[in-house]
Amino acid sequence: MKYKIIPVTPFQQNCTLLWCEETKQAVIVDPGGEPAILSKTIDDLGLTLVKVLLTHGHLDHVGAASKMARRYTVPIVGPHKDDAFLLETLAEQSARFGLEHCTAFVPDRWLDEGDTVKFGNVELQVRHTPGHTPGHVIFFSESTRLASVGDVLFAGGIGRTDFPRGDYQALISSIRNKLWPLGNDVQFIPGHGPMSTFGEERMTNPFVADRT
Ligand SMILES: [Zn+2]
Ligand SMILES: [Zn+2]
Repeated sequence: MKYKIIPVTPFQQNCTLLWCEETKQAVIVDPGGEPAILSKTIDDLGLTLVKVLLTHGHLDHVGAASKMARRYTVPIVGPHKDDAFLLETLAEQSARFGLEHCTAFVPDRWLDEGDTVKFGNVELQVRHTPGHTPGHVIFFSESTRLASVGDVLFAGGIGRTDFPRGDYQALISSIRNKLWPLGNDVQFIPGHGPMSTFGEERMTNPFVADRT
């Protein structure tokens, strides 16, 4: 599996293309905005988009999901249904944050702990990781040792829990009990900012390092 990070929106959200090298089938994780740039990247790389994947329901992660799904006639997959309340209020979110208007939508498939998502010869594992939002999920490629973790964990930081239905203890538990067991060698793409590894964060992250 290969990947390319495309920062979008004024929040510089790390929209990520993942694709199968053999079949060129691709998924796009968290298309938060700027669909023209995303489409150009997909076309320039010669990829066939087969799914839109969402980690959680915040506007900067889902703003272009409907547009991309319609343009390529592909399903929207994820997040967990506990984020339905966020997807129902996208119009209000876009007005509040001054971002391009986004209408409410319902994904074609909700995800849950233990689910898998397939494209080409690639299989991603799904973990339900509440805390930043109640319906947050992450995607993990066991063979590539790569995780797409949305706003659960950042290099040197963790997701905010001061948004509606945020839960600090749940977030810490998600990181320690759902992410760390995947392995210290796993590289992760966070929702914002640079990549890191779980092992590095277990040593140095001021919020969730093993010694804290
Ligand atoms: Zn978020
Ligand atoms: Zn975010």
